[in-house]
Amino acid sequence: MLNISPITAFSDNYIWLLSSKKSTSAVVVDPGDALPVIVALEQQDLELSAILITHHHVDHTGGIRRLLMHYPSATVYGPTGEHIPAIDQPLKEGDRVCLEDLGVNFDVLDVPGHTAGHITYFGAGALFCGDALFSVGCGRLFEGTPEQMSASLAKIAALPQDTKVYCAHEYTLDNIGFAKWVEPDNPELLAREDEANAQRQRGEPTLPSSLGQELRVNPFLRTHIPQVKQAAEQFADRELDSVAEIFGAVREWKDSRYD
Ligand code: ZN
Ligand code: FE
Repeated sequence: MLNISPITAFSDNYIWLLSSKKSTSAVVVDPGDALPVIVALEQQDLELSAILITHHHVDHTGGIRRLLMHYPSATVYGPTGEHIPAIDQPLKEGDRVCLEDLGVNFDVLDVPGHTAGHITYFGAGALFCGDALFSVGCGRLFEGTPEQMSASLAKIAALPQDTKVYCAHEYTLDNIGFAKWVEPDNPELLAREDEANAQRQRGEPTLPSSLGQELRVNPFLRTHIPQVKQAAEQFADRELDSVAEIFGAVREWKDSRYD
């Protein structure tokens, strides 16, 4: 059985820690900071065997160097297309990461948009999606176009609906605040807000989400829904013909409200 637990870092990052009862090996995803990872590993008597990186931003990569000083034999996996020092195994879509100690394999998907070379890891019913997809939101378009990002999100949306979605930031409540402008009458969205409020009040993460839930509440995965199209057209003040255009308008709308 794969155990997946969050290590909190900075103000709202999650570094996901993967371990298994059968092994003392552990794997972390996107360690922006080394110290909280080292503390968690030492508390649980675990040895770091691999680091998985989704994209080059420093809040996802800043801990790599120091982790390698502590755990020199750990293998670092990450995207081919980004300049990240210390990557041993560059990955692109179609590649597979075999973590033998944990008994799990991950398939790599290219999801450009937030950054040009962003990848995600899918396996064991889990998706580690970095800053591509958030619960009820998605990453900003720093290095990609709306066409690229909406294609990336469509690729994610085609995965099994029971896939657990492990995002890299706790942005859910903020995202819901925006999503309610797009779909004020979506009852699933209001239910997700109650759930997320209760989780945060208990001091728990709102993650993982599930892909099925995201498809019901995340406006960036719902650009095909008439209400989302209509709201996006109202914001853009023109007709929007393609899903990418609708996506682009919703993204621009959110960027204009929050920064
Ligand atoms: Zn990022
Ligand atoms: Fe980030």
